[in-house]
Amino acid sequence: MTSIFAQDTIDAWRRERQLDPEPLRRLRASFLRKFEGWKRAVEHLPPEHRDDFRRRFTPHSLTLADRRDSNLDGASKLLFRTAGDLPLESVILRVASGRTSLCVSSQVGCAARCDFCATGRMDIVKNLSAEEILDQVVQAGQIIAAEGRRLRNIVFMGMGEPLHNEPELHRALALLVDPLSFNLHPSRIMVSTVGIPPGMLRLAQLHPQVRLALSLHSVRPDVRQTLMPISLRHGLDELHSAMREVTRIQQREIMVEYLLLAGVNDTAEDLRLLPEFLRDINVHVNLIPYNPIDDAPHLAASSPERSRQFAAGLKAAGLRVTTRYSLGSDVAAACGQLVRGHQRRRVNA
Ligand code: SAH
Repeated sequence: MTSIFAQDTIDAWRRERQLDPEPLRRLRASFLRKFEGWKRAVEHLPPEHRDDFRRRFTPHSLTLADRRDSNLDGASKLLFRTAGDLPLESVILRVASGRTSLCVSSQVGCAARCDFCATGRMDIVKNLSAEEILDQVVQAGQIIAAEGRRLRNIVFMGMGEPLHNEPELHRALALLVDPLSFNLHPSRIMVSTVGIPPGMLRLAQLHPQVRLALSLHSVRPDVRQTLMPISLRHGLDELHSAMREVTRIQQREIMVEYLLLAGVNDTAEDLRLLPEFLRDINVHVNLIPYNPIDDAPHLAASSPERSRQFAAGLKAAGLRVTTRYSLGSDVAAACGQLVRGHQRRRVNA
C-alpha cells in the first residue's frame, strides 16, 4: 500500500478518475491539520471512490504499541513500532500554559553515542523515513486534538541524530511546513543536533526559519570529545564557525543546550570558557539537568545549588540563559532516556 504522503501517486489516482482536487485537499486538511481520524478524513471523498482509496493508500506507517502517561506532569510517552518491528518513541509535552509540544525521533538508535545518552547504547541504528517521522506527528496529533489541545511545537529531540538522516529530515520538514499538508510555521519547529557543521549549514540554507538547537555540553576539547565522540571528527573551531554562519543565514539565535554534569562541565573553568566561546555568536543557552541513565554510573547531575550558580554566572557574563526541567521522568520520557529501558525489559522478559 502507498503512503498518504505520496502526493504524486495520489494525484495520479485522482487524475485517472477525473476527480476534482478539492475533496482530496479537504481530506488532507482533515487528516494532517485537524488530526481527525482516517475514517472521518476519507469521508471527504465522493462515496463511490472511498473503498478504492482506502485499499490503495495507508494512513499510518507505524503501530502505536504502548502509551505511558506521567503522574507527575503533563508528559505522555508513545512507544511505536516500525513495520520491521523496531521500537521508537515520541513524547507529548503538555505545559501549564496550555501549549503542547511533541518531541519526535528521527532514528531508531543513534550513531553519535554520546556518553550520557541512553539512545546511543542501543545496538541498532536505522534511519526513519519521512513517513515514519510524520506518522509520529499524525498519531500524537490525534491524541492531542482529542483532548481539545493544539499542537504548537515540534522538536526533533527524541531518539537519533537528525543530521545523520538528512534526506528524510528535509523531506519531513518540507511536508510539515507545506500549506497543503501540516501547514506548521517553520519557527514552531526545532531541530537539535550533536553538531555536524556541513549538515547545520545545509539545514539553515534550506529552512532558514526552522530553529536550530545545538547540544554543546562543553567547550573544552578534551571534555567534549569524551562526552560526545562526534567532536573527534568535528572539533570546536569548526563548530564555532558553523554557528556563526548559521546565525548569519538565519538572522536569529541558536539554542545552545548545555547538560550540567557535576565536576565534568560545571567547574569555574567552564564558567569562564563558555561565555568566551559564545561571545560573538547569537545564542540562547538552555541548561539541562542531567537525567541519570544506568549505563553511565560515572556521571552525576550538578547539584541544584551549583546549577543556580552556573546559570547566574552565565547571566552575569551577558548570556541569555534558561534552565530546562524535563517532563516525564517517571515514565522514562525525559531527555536521553528514550527506548533503551523498554528494549532492556524486552530482552529480560
Ligand atoms: N541528537 C540530537 C537530538 C536528540 S537528544 C542532539 O543530540 O541534540 C536531545 C537532547 O537531550 C540533547 O541536547 C541531548 O544532549 C540531551 N540529552 C541526552 N541524554 C540526556 C540525559 N541523560 N539527560 C539530559 N539530557 C540528555
